[in-house]
Amino acid sequence: MEGLKLITDNKLETNITVGDTVIGGDEVVIMAGPCAVESKEQLFITAGALKELGVKILRGGAFKPRTSPYAFSGLGEDGLKMLQDVSNTTGMAIITEVMNPNEVPMVAEYADILQVGSRNMQNFPLLQAVGNTNKPVLLKRGLAATITEWLFAAEYILAEGNQQVILCERGIRTFETYTRNTVDLSAVPIVKNLTNLPIIVDPSHATGINELVNPVSKGAVAMGADGLLIEVHPNPREALCDGEQSLTPEQFADLLVELEPICKAVGKRLHTICKKNS
Ligand code: PEP
Ligand code: MN
Repeated sequence: MEGLKLITDNKLETNITVGDTVIGGDEVVIMAGPCAVESKEQLFITAGALKELGVKILRGGAFKPRTSPYAFSGLGEDGLKMLQDVSNTTGMAIITEVMNPNEVPMVAEYADILQVGSRNMQNFPLLQAVGNTNKPVLLKRGLAATITEWLFAAEYILAEGNQQVILCERGIRTFETYTRNTVDLSAVPIVKNLTNLPIIVDPSHATGINELVNPVSKGAVAMGADGLLIEVHPNPREALCDGEQSLTPEQFADLLVELEPICKAVGKRLHTICKKNS
């Protein structure tokens, strides 16, 4: 693709290591957790259930980009401290969003993976700031971004010297309104053909609907995704954010069981533990 330099380089390191988890290798890596860190209790309950299933990377937003300025926008640094606590107790790695270039050094002290959200995909000072850290960066596709624009955004991070970029397809805006976004699963093989960077799929924001998270997750793995980012909440009905798309820990456990044969079919292993509920 014209103009891209680093991202299309065949010598680019493809595997990204977080603790003892390798993203982009022969395992399908599942990152899961609540949309937002709400309280210590909520986080510890969720993390405990996920750890039992072998999840090694816990998600949770402390800085939340919200459409309305009046919606819950996260606990800020207090939320990061809760994530750190749970990480110290469980040994799980943390992925969390950073929204402001000035906050990158602070968030990087707590996070194992820095998440750049969809709304910030073309926040170029933010891309440069995360590019100047030594932390892996999860770069979500912009809600109206073409694949080319997305890859150029990744190139901004690489150009600062940080090669540890994970791309994340999370659905794009189309004329369809039934789902929150329209998931573009063809982005997975396209990105795989164009670059060596790992690509994962977020079926939660891609659909916005609890029942669709399971089939879209399976489709994503079948299409070659290196992993999934899934919202899980102990009590979705009471979630302060994105409850309608959050899985219960039980639904999440069932999904893992159904994902395993699909991972095998595409020559990969699921890095979590499968335990059938019911
Ligand atoms: C998130 O994953 O917490 C999030 C806000 O998602 P997105 O940036 O894809 O909307
Ligand atoms: Mn969310």
